[in-house]
Amino acid sequence: MTQLPVLNLSSTATGTTSDGRRASLPPRHLADLDLAGRRAAVAELGEQAFRAGQVSAHYFGRLIRDPAEMTDLPARSRAAITEALLPPLLHPVRELATDNGTTRKTLWRLHDGSLVESVLMGYPDRVTVCVSSQAGCGMACPFCATGQAGLTRNLSTAEIVDQVVWFAGQAARGALPGCPDRLSRVVFMGMGEPLANYNRVIAAVRRLTEPAPEGLGLSQRHITVSTVGLVPAIRRLTQEGLSVTLALSLHAPDDDLRDTLVPVNQRWKVAEVLDAAFEYAARTGRRVSIEYAMIRDVNDHPWRADLLGRLLSGRLAHVNLIPLNPTPGSKWDASPKPVEREFVRRLRAAGVATTVRDTRGREIDGACGQLAASSGGKVGERQDGLLARRANEETQ
Ligand code: SAH
Repeated sequence: MTQLPVLNLSSTATGTTSDGRRASLPPRHLADLDLAGRRAAVAELGEQAFRAGQVSAHYFGRLIRDPAEMTDLPARSRAAITEALLPPLLHPVRELATDNGTTRKTLWRLHDGSLVESVLMGYPDRVTVCVSSQAGCGMACPFCATGQAGLTRNLSTAEIVDQVVWFAGQAARGALPGCPDRLSRVVFMGMGEPLANYNRVIAAVRRLTEPAPEGLGLSQRHITVSTVGLVPAIRRLTQEGLSVTLALSLHAPDDDLRDTLVPVNQRWKVAEVLDAAFEYAARTGRRVSIEYAMIRDVNDHPWRADLLGRLLSGRLAHVNLIPLNPTPGSKWDASPKPVEREFVRRLRAAGVATTVRDTRGREIDGACGQLAASSGGKVGERQDGLLARRANEETQ
């Protein structure tokens, strides 16, 4: 068995880079703490503990972070309290928009110079944010731009939560024309492998789902955690008592191919990872989403559709096919549409619910697998003519 150097499942270290260096911790933020911890932090400043609830209500409830707007805090303490609990964590470097402004990607610089991206997607009935859980990624999937650069570090709980709160504020202020003003869904499908940053991702899920002022008050069912298939972590997630949706990036139904497309398969095989995913589904009652990037002449053969159909038939699972998005230097293309349609047909014939994911954000390199956080280029650089190609929604 090939030993993969990339798997660091000990999520106790906040930031150990892939070459073993310890990255510096981001400043503590109220989203790292539960309400009791925030109260203690405020009391340490010599302020009344209930101020913690007020600041939390501004941040999570009213989506406000400017101390000047926190008029219920005494003017003399505002600066000290907000400096202690709301240090700026995400500094926008570049924002790109497409689809008439309903798809927006932001590149953030973190306190130590690390770069991450998040994508906001507005639809007529919902607003979804795709968040990053790590700067870079150590999973090395060859078709994914994030995977090419390696892992820089884990994000802190607050660095994850703040991506969502930031965009929730934008949505509330009407940034997405024709879309609801309430952000309702979060997908952990940005940069990084969420289950390799397990403790912080779970803390972020709890913070996002607890009602204000403790958290943002989203529904657990509207949160999707996507994984390459770290089996021990999936099993641990099964015990958490959460009802988030699990997405499994399968991409191949056979070990020979999956060993190359998703290198972690060298450690946990298709049968084992599906077993863990099915157990998650059985425990939570939540249908598992099987992610499958359609790569021309690589994984799109009819026999692979049939094999996948046999593996999933009768299970609490559905397949989400993702037309391969282009990444720099990649030798692979998306499958032709007729091949994709035949793949869908065979899966459905096996009784497996199947959809094709929309390729939202492709024009701004904001679609699946395209987040690479290069800071090159100017603001607005690629915005010209982007509106021509509104991607097809989950049509098939
Ligand atoms: N590490 C997690 C979270 C990333 S989610 C995971 O792999 O699940 C991003 C999703 O997009 C994953 O399903 C990933 O396999 C897929 N993806 C990566 N590169 C892609 C590409 N070039 N085209 C289409 N999908 C891609």
